[in-house]
Amino acid sequence: MNFYPDYVFIESEAENYALGKELIKKFESLKIPIFSFKEFKKINNYEKSSKEFYSFSKRSLIVGIKKSMKLECCKPSADYQFSLVTGCPGSCEYCYLQTNQSFKPFIRVYVNIEEIFDNIDKYIAASIPNITTFEISSSSDPIAVEHLTGSVKKTIEFFSNKEFGRLRLVTKYSNIDNLLNINHNNHTKVRFSINSEYVIKSFEHNTDKIEERIKAASLIYKSGYPLGFIIAPIMHYDGWTEEYRKLFEMLKNNIPNPNNENLSFELIQYRFTTRAKNVIVDRFPNTKLDMNEESRIKKWGPYGVYKFVYTKDISNKLKDYISNLIIDYFPNSTIEYFT
Ligand code: SF4
Repeated sequence: MNFYPDYVFIESEAENYALGKELIKKFESLKIPIFSFKEFKKINNYEKSSKEFYSFSKRSLIVGIKKSMKLECCKPSADYQFSLVTGCPGSCEYCYLQTNQSFKPFIRVYVNIEEIFDNIDKYIAASIPNITTFEISSSSDPIAVEHLTGSVKKTIEFFSNKEFGRLRLVTKYSNIDNLLNINHNNHTKVRFSINSEYVIKSFEHNTDKIEERIKAASLIYKSGYPLGFIIAPIMHYDGWTEEYRKLFEMLKNNIPNPNNENLSFELIQYRFTTRAKNVIVDRFPNTKLDMNEESRIKKWGPYGVYKFVYTKDISNKLKDYISNLIIDYFPNSTIEYFT
């Protein structure tokens, strides 16, 4: 499912970059209306309800410049994170972007890619002889717009020459064709975010189907990339054991060598904050997300707010059951973390 915006907004400086020019041409040929970024606020006037604003923003793409070059840490996934894109055309109800970018839910792609790469070089140089890892999926799903920008491909090629730099990305999309026949030099790890049928159907709107994600994973695997899977958020609901088992069954039937030692799994159980709950209920009034604080325990989070997590008992059940599925179906793979 390839995303095409209904509206495009261009920041004036973006027109000076090759990718900015290329995108303008592409959107003109697609007959998608293009405006100056200054028009964004006028068109998207503040009389809109928060739901209208959200829906409009999710159909809007901004072509802009990445200005801040200070990179944040990204534990446990990588040493640092950087963005080729912020925002996402997907509308996963539980997504942390609901709160993290609640006032800016639009999709913004950055065209000053060479400047972004120069900055990465500085971070890599500062840590030599250690290898520095970078995550590009912390503030977006960059594969969701890869057919428009081609930026992930360029970034993989950039990292292929870096002796001391490695790239990591994660996606819920299958739009990976232009990553298949390029020189990645095993320096990029591609992970697919997968989940049970109930979780995907109920909460992961405007993302690709599980079958498409797994097919894309098998193509990435055949192209020699280090491959991983993230199961997040793992949810506890009636029938969860059977559904997660089916997921692993499907995975094993599609990954050509399930005994491969390079396969990895990252496991993240569902949690929410009060702020996230308020935004989610406002945007998805009929949400089926289980956000009942009374059945959770409170845990102090790294961003200075409490999060509500499953009780120890449920958390252990989830951890043991999913870990055992991994051991049964992919005995030589690695579980990188459960959180
Ligand atoms: Fe968030 Fe990923 Fe869903 Fe996009 S695809 S809304 S980044 S969880």
